[in-house]
Amino acid sequence: MRAVASAIAMLLAAGTVFAQGTQGQYEGPIFDTHLHYNQEAWDGNTGPFPPSEALARMQRNDVRAIIANSRPNAGTQTLAASRETRAAGVTVVPFVRLYRNREDYTSWFRDETIYEMVLTELARGTASGPYRGLGEFHLYESANANGPVAKKLIALAEREKLAVLAHVDDTAVDLLMANAPSKGQSLRLIWAHTGIGGTPVERVQAMLERYPLLMGELSYRPGLTCEGGRLCPEWRSLILKHPGRFMVGSDTWINQRWSSYDETMRGYRAWLGDLPDDVAQRIAWGNAAGLFGLR
Ligand SMILES: [Zn+2]
Repeated sequence: MRAVASAIAMLLAAGTVFAQGTQGQYEGPIFDTHLHYNQEAWDGNTGPFPPSEALARMQRNDVRAIIANSRPNAGTQTLAASRETRAAGVTVVPFVRLYRNREDYTSWFRDETIYEMVLTELARGTASGPYRGLGEFHLYESANANGPVAKKLIALAEREKLAVLAHVDDTAVDLLMANAPSKGQSLRLIWAHTGIGGTPVERVQAMLERYPLLMGELSYRPGLTCEGGRLCPEWRSLILKHPGRFMVGSDTWINQRWSSYDETMRGYRAWLGDLPDDVAQRIAWGNAAGLFGLR
């Protein structure tokens, strides 16, 4: 009896330490707003992550919706059409990727055949419904935001109310916004990584205030998390100032990211636990669900 009592006492003590040591984690659903299903992941169902494997990762992490895009777009088409996707309860929000192959990464912004490919893909749609956005695309030099095809695609996105998922620096965000007919007031731009080069928090805040539809996706964001994977104070206060403007994503750009998908999601759940419940829910799910009309 005494052994049982002391075991209980130890458990209670351990519980207290746990409660003091961490603030718990976010437990709700996740909308993965930056998911790639590239050719090498599935490769016609013979790659290491066929739809069943990719979806098992989403399901066990309670990822219930994804912004899907892929090089080439066949990966997104496959996920969008898969019976397994529906069985897993995952909603696919498809985006047109601008890349047919790796060569396109560095020339898409001036390549007319990319514009034609996007129009063809938009007309075709997917088994999960029409495309809802363009990207992810990269601009390794900000000035290429002024490339002729980049300009046309931004105008198209705003006209057709397509979101844009852009992996670019802050200068390029300004250029892309300037190229939108509304000068950035009506362009829904999801900023992949929210400044992967470490754009200062004050600058991110100023951009959010300048562009009403700019959203920040937080994968790979330097300075976001501090000791023990918890949210750094300056990011916590920025998110609390703009709780409707941030989202999370896996960025499965290489197969290793599929291998570590569970860890990525665990990492998000840990720092989301540093926010009030309603804010955590918005970042994890509600902001993206609202954008694309999911319940
Ligand atoms: Zn990416």
